[in-house]
Amino acid sequence: MAGIVVIFDFDKTIIDYDSDNWVVDEMGATQLFDELLPTMPWNPLMDRMMRELHSRGKTIEDIVECLKRAPLHPRIITAIKSAHALGCELRIVSDANIFFIETILKHHGLMDYFTEINTNPSYVDEEGKLRIFPYHDLTSSPHSSCPPNMCKGLVIERIQETLAAEGKKRFIYLGDGKGDFCPTLKLREGDYVMPRKNFPLWELISSNPLLVKAEIHEWSDGEDLERVLLQLINNILDQEEAQMIPVDYKFHTIPISTHEPLPKALPVPN
Ligand SMILES: [Mg+2]
Ligand SMILES: [Zn+2]
Repeated sequence: MAGIVVIFDFDKTIIDYDSDNWVVDEMGATQLFDELLPTMPWNPLMDRMMRELHSRGKTIEDIVECLKRAPLHPRIITAIKSAHALGCELRIVSDANIFFIETILKHHGLMDYFTEINTNPSYVDEEGKLRIFPYHDLTSSPHSSCPPNMCKGLVIERIQETLAAEGKKRFIYLGDGKGDFCPTLKLREGDYVMPRKNFPLWELISSNPLLVKAEIHEWSDGEDLERVLLQLINNILDQEEAQMIPVDYKFHTIPISTHEPLPKALPVPN
């Protein structure tokens, strides 16, 4: 196992849309959603919207079919599989909900690649209605910039603490949204953040670069995400391997035939 932990946001990072908006829009409930949005927080609003869809006769099967159609770039599927094959540990931190995320991951055969999904709890109640709840108590949010139901920064801190006992870990965090800025600020030197170009996280990082200790590598689409992520992982693995060459070999016994400058790991362009 490599010492690399890759943490993905879900909406507009793994899938190309926001899963909540996708379901609401595809099921024709956009108007009510837009009316209620100014009056209540997003997370309870989604629970309210699921009640609405149920009252309009939409079943859980309808929602599942809708989620299966949510666009996911094929290169993101191969990126996830390659990162896993290279020994990285993959986790998700998302403000969507567990039902939406699991349904989509299962549909694309990706469930087994992730060791942990941190998101809002949800379940189907006895009436066949999807219920969605906050990740943590709506009143306990520590940051005004984070949604009241989920501070991803707290999640990252908890992951950093639980992994500290396992030795040095490098984190790569991928995301797009405003809520991904708080966890970005928790990353340390030697970590990486991959903000989606021209999205709110990228804009927040661009206007506060001195606050970010992690190395910044932007991406725009699925193809880009795969290329940048795999290059970062391979660079880290090369560095780890180089550190394992015995000192004697490094300084004294390099044969003449290979006595050439060692190839340097290429930096990923910003
Ligand atoms: Mg997102
Ligand atoms: Zn926060």
